[in-house]
Amino acid sequence: MDWKDRRVLVTGAGKGIGRATVPLLAEHGATVVALSRDQRDLDLLASEVCCETICTDLADLDVIETSVAGALPIDLLVNCAGTTTLQSFVSTEIAEFNRVMNVNAVAPMILSQIVARDWLRRGVAGAIVNVSSDAARRGVENHTAYCASKAALDAMTRVMAAELGPGGIRVNSVNPTVTLTPMGKLAWSDPEKADPVKARIPLGRFLEPKEVAEAILFLLSDEAAMVNGVCLPVDGGLSIT
Ligand code: NAP
Repeated sequence: MDWKDRRVLVTGAGKGIGRATVPLLAEHGATVVALSRDQRDLDLLASEVCCETICTDLADLDVIETSVAGALPIDLLVNCAGTTTLQSFVSTEIAEFNRVMNVNAVAPMILSQIVARDWLRRGVAGAIVNVSSDAARRGVENHTAYCASKAALDAMTRVMAAELGPGGIRVNSVNPTVTLTPMGKLAWSDPEKADPVKARIPLGRFLEPKEVAEAILFLLSDEAAMVNGVCLPVDGGLSIT
């Protein structure tokens, strides 16, 4: 994986999985454009890893195009920013549902359209990795909006792969299970809650953010030249139990 002269846009780069992806890409020579919505996170990141930064809130769909215009051309895209809301199905509010759908599915669509149009216009190949979730195919209690948004992202991944493939553009997703980001650690620190889930994972543990980042790098890379339209479980085998 030699990404010298390659520019990679990573959304959600301020924390968690996106944050873990940036230094790995930089180690392989990529110029990373890190997008998130908290300037302090981006300043801290840029003080540790050489990268360009964009501070914007992807929930504001109308400003996405102008926010990233200055970062083009981009060679590879990682749609990692994601959000959730905890509401039971019968209490799910339309505004919250739309907010989660906008950040998790509509914003990745808009960003992918921006870079794909540019690639098609210039006649160059490209790759996109969408960070989805195992929740895309599960019924996780109190996560109607989140599960629907990740299922939408998976569906979009397949359509993008089908339509953009002839232009040399590959699109895949990674679908992690519980990942021990700071928030993940907090949410899953209670053994009573965590142990039954871990027991169903053949490898017996949750993920570290870097382990998801490594899968993202593989799917972006030329080593995955014929991998297209895949929603890759990164879950220690949970999906087969
Ligand atoms: P995280 O630790 O909360 O980090 C998410 C990053 O994205 C943060 O920097 C956050 O900024 C940024 N972000 C969120 N909403 C944004 C918006 N509207 N505009 C711009 N940036 C935004 O989350 P994570 O656990 O790494 O999750 C990353 C992705 O993996 C998400 O798509 C998530 O659904 C998926 N995933 C996570 C897990 C898990 O267990 N952690 C499992 C499966 C899938 P702020 O901090 O300012 O909000």
